[in-house]
Amino acid sequence: MKIFPQRPSVLGRMIKVENIRSEALCGLCKRKEAFYFRRYSGERLCKGCFVKAIENKVRATIAKYGMFEFNDKIAVAVSGGKDSVSLLHILSKIERDYPKASLVAVSVDEGIAGYRDEALKIAEENCRKLEVEHHVISFKKLYGFTLDEIVEKLKNKSEDELSPCAYCGVLRRKALNIIARKVEADKLATAHTLDDEVQTVLLNMLHGDPYRIAREKPVTDETHPKLVKRVKPFCEILERETALYAYVKKIRFQNTPCPYAPEALRNDVRVFLNRMEEKHAGLKYTIFKAAEKLRLAIEKIEKTVTLKACDECGEPTMQTLCKACEMLQKIRD
Ligand code: SF4
Ligand code: ZN
Repeated sequence: MKIFPQRPSVLGRMIKVENIRSEALCGLCKRKEAFYFRRYSGERLCKGCFVKAIENKVRATIAKYGMFEFNDKIAVAVSGGKDSVSLLHILSKIERDYPKASLVAVSVDEGIAGYRDEALKIAEENCRKLEVEHHVISFKKLYGFTLDEIVEKLKNKSEDELSPCAYCGVLRRKALNIIARKVEADKLATAHTLDDEVQTVLLNMLHGDPYRIAREKPVTDETHPKLVKRVKPFCEILERETALYAYVKKIRFQNTPCPYAPEALRNDVRVFLNRMEEKHAGLKYTIFKAAEKLRLAIEKIEKTVTLKACDECGEPTMQTLCKACEMLQKIRD
């Protein structure tokens, strides 16, 4: 038989169809037919055991890094894509075991015509289904510009070499912190997957900034009264498996890509890592673990970062002006 998936699009690109023997049974329950071959561990899993395996792994990651307290108010950043809606579903399931904890979903409307509107509808739909409160913050209200307007403005500034994603990333990070603080969340959970984390490690190397590796952690350890602690419960889950989880659980997510193609270098790194993982299963985990060791080594030689308030907006930053204010100044000039 063919194992997952037969459906093209995002899932088709993410999860390679692999052949396993038609009589193969799930290696965990040993009763049901396997539908997925986890190459890095050599396991064959049926749908039910795959779902349990992912949920257990998220629970284990949360425990390993001490991501939550039993009574936390958790804001989940939901974009409407497969990773974030899967995270929302899993955290809402886990949260049921902790009566004193609560969950709220937060989304950022960057203002990308024909793209974000649909994603926000899907995010809202998932929240309604799970009975999770949903809050949206927009670039337009917060900064005075939509991302489309920013891109338009930057076209006239020939000296600017930053991609739309560079602006989007910085402004969204700040917006998420603001909305998480507004809803009085103790933690902000984002759906960064193992793939995202490992891409970032390599990108930091390629940008010549290895010390940054120490700053990108599964749980932020920087502190500032205005900073909501960020946690990444998917940091040890492959992106292809979050897509598969959404597919198996029949979770609706946005399938169309953003019109601003992701940063060229990140894309190249993604393709490279996927090719390497194909040839050497488990390589992404190896890089992730290597980065953890590197982090410890860097922490010994680098002073801990102290955050202060941005001179312009008061949000936490390492400089006198936060990156977002610096960018907004450039846009306005
Ligand atoms: Fe923003 Fe780039 Fe992602 Fe589009 S692809 S949402 S511009 S970061
Ligand atoms: Zn600022």
